[in-house]
Amino acid sequence: MILDCHTHLASPHTLPEPFFAGWGENIRRLLPPDLPERHRAKIAARYRLERPDPSGDQHVSELNAAGIDAAVSLIVDFGFAFPEAFPPLEEVFALHHAMALRHPGRFWVFAGIDPRRGSAGVDLFARSIAKWGVRGLKLYPPCGYSPSDPALDPYYDLCAQHKLPVLTHTGPTSPRLSFQHTRPMDVEAAAQRFPNVNFILAHGAVVHREDAALLAEYRPNVYVDTAGFQVAVKRGEWNDTLMRYKRHGILRKLLFGSDWPIHAEHGPLSGWMPRLTGEPGLLTAAERSWILEDNHRELWSCT
Ligand SMILES: [Zn+2]
Repeated sequence: MILDCHTHLASPHTLPEPFFAGWGENIRRLLPPDLPERHRAKIAARYRLERPDPSGDQHVSELNAAGIDAAVSLIVDFGFAFPEAFPPLEEVFALHHAMALRHPGRFWVFAGIDPRRGSAGVDLFARSIAKWGVRGLKLYPPCGYSPSDPALDPYYDLCAQHKLPVLTHTGPTSPRLSFQHTRPMDVEAAAQRFPNVNFILAHGAVVHREDAALLAEYRPNVYVDTAGFQVAVKRGEWNDTLMRYKRHGILRKLLFGSDWPIHAEHGPLSGWMPRLTGEPGLLTAAERSWILEDNHRELWSCT
């Protein structure tokens, strides 16, 4: 079963406007000085949610066209970072649950909860496992906390108990958020404390690649996802990354993730799938299926 381990529900309620606005502000500064203002504005305007899809119908069409069986849909708790633009968290959970019910078997929801929610947050996580069958925990440290903060230990205890993986963002993000606590090594203390919980470094194959690969090589319960590989392909870096994973013998730690709909402006998933595994002949058929299918199985079978 081909699984995309990193996607989001495309709605302004789940990916709020200020998140995208920060990207637009930064891109204007990076453009060449002689570019006419109308072009600058047009490029900056691309950094917004182009096609809202709260039902998941468009996403399922994308999955079908790309030959992907199921996608992990990651809840991000922006409640502390963008309180004015983010609905009550339980509503966001309900939106994801409704989408999963509408498309049976196609979406695996990961709970996203900011540890500053205290015991109410832990209760929500426990209920979402029991009632809604969430399949993992999503952390977004740019909202202002470390993935190794002891306040997360009750969540990790629940993950260990229910054999659920933790997917945590690494690397820079919207400039409206903090880049602190977004390095792979920020996960290291938690990964050492909870050897029975599997941690996925989101975007680890694209940003902070050295540290992410190092942890994947030496820390048994650390995995890396490919979310954002579209950018690495465009930069001409992707073949190098795959070769590095092959040379170091860590392709068994690499997981296919697309970050849909974040890179939707670069084209449909079906067009990107052949490029995910690099130039022809770089990976064997078995290695390809590790990244797309087999490696994911280990995440839900930890002891
Ligand atoms: Zn993402």
